[in-house]
Amino acid sequence: MDKIDIFARAKINTALDVTGKREDGYHDLRMIMQTVNLCDNISIEKSKETGIELTSNLAWLPCDGRNLIYRAAEVLIDRCGIKKGVKIKLFKRIPAAAGLAGGSSDCAATLVAMRRLFGLNISNTELMKIGEELGADVPYCIMRGTALAEGKGEILTRLPAFPDAYVLLAKPPINVSTPAVFKEFSMDKVEKRPDIEKMISCIENNDLQGICDNMCNVLETVTEKNYPIIKDIKQAMLDHKALGSMMSGSGPTVFGFFTTYEDGIEALKFVRSTYHVKEIYLTTVFNIKQHKGTSVN
Ligand code: ATP
Repeated sequence: MDKIDIFARAKINTALDVTGKREDGYHDLRMIMQTVNLCDNISIEKSKETGIELTSNLAWLPCDGRNLIYRAAEVLIDRCGIKKGVKIKLFKRIPAAAGLAGGSSDCAATLVAMRRLFGLNISNTELMKIGEELGADVPYCIMRGTALAEGKGEILTRLPAFPDAYVLLAKPPINVSTPAVFKEFSMDKVEKRPDIEKMISCIENNDLQGICDNMCNVLETVTEKNYPIIKDIKQAMLDHKALGSMMSGSGPTVFGFFTTYEDGIEALKFVRSTYHVKEIYLTTVFNIKQHKGTSVN
């Protein structure tokens, strides 16, 4: 095999709780993670020359050691003594710095694809450990599907598959820094926290409305307060037949669950024209069980 083409999918959080502050400066989290089918495409080709050559469709995105794809390839080349170089092409669709773990997912997909391309003898557990050094969400992005993530996000428990649903993702035209959101976060401002156990039982019962009724993200107390457009978009999705709507991660992306494609499209059109949201996508939930036998795609 000389070349591999892979998908790197986005994630949303259907629940996000902060349970404490750690000595290393990070916060302790409890999150329910869900992969969705909006994806970046990554193509990796072995090359005769050594080194990593990364190109992308986005002029502003760094293609050197600041890019997590580059770092993932570099770590495996160094650790496994790979003698060849790689040419990597990235086509990005997942909005960046949006609460959708786009960079982490690209990183995870690169680790898995490099393992396959070079036939590396690395277990999933080892690959997740390597991923954790590159970013707290990377181990989950290797695991994918529905999962409970604790600690910084690296302690993972697989949950049953999520009910089938259409997912509308809308990233308002604002930039949010994840470290700044955590810096501003204060437990005193939190009035409602997610009932994670209840959410898990709704997932086990395949109860999409129950999930939607219990969704909660404590980071909305920071990002939604700073950017009221987030609340407005959530309300607009609910007014257009979303079963539930919430901000993902530290934001600013808002997602909504819909039972039909037509309802999702109606909401997309309204949000796009009313709030001038250019980065808006109607996608579906991704479950591992539908994709048995394929470890990357
Ligand atoms: P999270 O949900 O994990 O907080 P995010 O959606 O907030 O992720 P990312 O899209 O992962 O944020 O990107 C955040 C920053 O990481 C970007 O501003 C970019 O400079 C850098 N970055 C590094 N590699 C990548 C990549 N492959 N794709 C996108 N951003 C990348």
